Amino acid sequence: MKQIPVMAEPDHPREECGVLGISTPHGDGIAEMAFFGLFALQHRGQEAAGIAVSDGQRARLHKDEGLVSNIFTPEAMAPLSGYHAIGHTRYSTTGSNAHRNIQPFLVETMHGPLAVAHNGNIVNASALREELLHRGFGLTATSDTEVIALMLAAAGGRTWQDRLERTIPAWKGAFSLVLLAADEVIAVRDPWGFRPLSVGRLPHGGWTVASETCALATLGCADIDEVQPGEIVTLRGSEIARHQALTPAPRSARCTFEFIYFSRPDSVWDGQNVHHVRQRLGVELARESHVDADVVIPVPDSSIPAAIGYSAESGIPHNDGLIKNRYIGRTFIEPTQDMRERGVALKFNALSENLAGRRVVMIDDSLVRGTTAGPLVQMVRDAGATEVHLRITCPPITHACHFGVDMGHDSDLMAARLSVPEIAEHIGADSLAFISYDGMMRAVSASEGYCNACFTGDYPIPVHEAQAKLSFEGAIA
Ligand code: SF4
Repeated sequence: MKQIPVMAEPDHPREECGVLGISTPHGDGIAEMAFFGLFALQHRGQEAAGIAVSDGQRARLHKDEGLVSNIFTPEAMAPLSGYHAIGHTRYSTTGSNAHRNIQPFLVETMHGPLAVAHNGNIVNASALREELLHRGFGLTATSDTEVIALMLAAAGGRTWQDRLERTIPAWKGAFSLVLLAADEVIAVRDPWGFRPLSVGRLPHGGWTVASETCALATLGCADIDEVQPGEIVTLRGSEIARHQALTPAPRSARCTFEFIYFSRPDSVWDGQNVHHVRQRLGVELARESHVDADVVIPVPDSSIPAAIGYSAESGIPHNDGLIKNRYIGRTFIEPTQDMRERGVALKFNALSENLAGRRVVMIDDSLVRGTTAGPLVQMVRDAGATEVHLRITCPPITHACHFGVDMGHDSDLMAARLSVPEIAEHIGADSLAFISYDGMMRAVSASEGYCNACFTGDYPIPVHEAQAKLSFEGAIA
């Protein structure tokens, strides 16, 4: 039976994916470590997940739709024994969420098994896919990850590292990749550094790479370091080899949205704790757009640190005003029409005890299609707030992302169509303010080295070859 999301599309950019790779000399509990590492990355994708394990010769794979904790039962984990593992948790960015697109992809090649898990989006995947079809390769999936796997399998070279070095210059776009071969795990990050990837030493021998440092902390890792843009890192039991395969792009392009919304607050991105940066976003926002009010409330969970920062800077006390059902996800039970119409009520309840008779500043991290801001403002008013002022910790999103984040098309973006006063009127807020670009970058403590294309339209690499999310679908029967 089909599982149903319990609320309408949340109005956030949709991340992407989480990747993980582990190599140990002893193999003890490899599948369990991969499970808990992926579990820590669940926020990066809730549609599907998979783990592939190699015992030195043979690779085994289990993947399915759903949450990590539902997919990996003791029975599913039992066959996953070995020394090396990779894992993936998915939200579909290229290709639909069909079963054939769930990662890791495992292919048998003339050089042995190869499994691939990918976070990001290759902008020229469409042209690369055409080339593979032209060369007679049969493609079974509709995601760019299959293109990556088949290009590597077909490349010349003595080792997987050689093949990677020959192949990655052809890939334009965002890729934080983990590969599983028979006897090693290999991680590689694109030369722009769009998506995060870090490596750490496991407490009982071996190494782990993961999209976010929170997964490395969960596994008890020490010596945590970023995989550098353009670097290939090979994990083989207790050994690690690092090789700068491609020169980092002159203009690096870390995704600013990792700070704003995607990463877990306990993760470190570009050497900075995400929670602290979010607090500073709130501080900057308070400096730029102060309003007289009685209470500051976050839209939980990602805006909690920013509300703390806004409150500290403005002197307005912060409190909870919206309570989120943290177990929201998918269910087999379809909501009634009435419940569907109440939309956000399935996810949030207002705390009227903290809102009634008060002028409220509500902090949210982003406004994409504008589908939930209006109902949330109304919910806070219905709970008795006398004024509702919405403050957003990123600038208006006016351009779509082509590097692995689903925001829809330019035409879906509310700020691309309406001015700030028009948006405020549309959602029914007494006032609305977005943080400025400069204020955001002050909070990030950087003036360059970041991708901000969704705010500026200034894409760090040309995107004219970018394919729409589902553009491969027609090519598969
Ligand atoms: S366009 Fe926006 S979401 Fe996409 S990588 Fe750049 S900053 Fe991140």
